Amino acid sequence: MDCLFCNIINGTKESKKIYEDDKVIGIMDAFPNVDGHVLLIPKKHITDFKELDSDTLNHMYEVSKTLTDKLMTKLDKKAITLLVNYGESQVIKHLHLHLLPNYGKEMEAKSSPDEIYDKLKK
Ligand SMILES: [Zn+2]
Repeated sequence: MDCLFCNIINGTKESKKIYEDDKVIGIMDAFPNVDGHVLLIPKKHITDFKELDSDTLNHMYEVSKTLTDKLMTKLDKKAITLLVNYGESQVIKHLHLHLLPNYGKEMEAKSSPDEIYDKLKK
């Protein structure tokens, strides 16, 4: 099985990583909808939210709290939206949680992913 996110997790595909622990990684979306668009991805291959177990779910939302603080502080944003796609709107069939600062308030990314990554990486 060739899965883009599994390849990012095992290191064969590059990504702009801003968070990692033993269960999840947080990376910059390569095609951001807004500045600071981050994807939080479980390290085990879970196809979609219907396969998601409660331990992983809890962990993803705990990590999201930390990432939300980081995104809002470092990028000076006043709002954030957490979003999970399913069905035809889920492009990559490995579950991922979108973190979208000022989603709806700002309608497009204004900075390049590299510029935002410089602010968010450790
Ligand atoms: Zn995968």
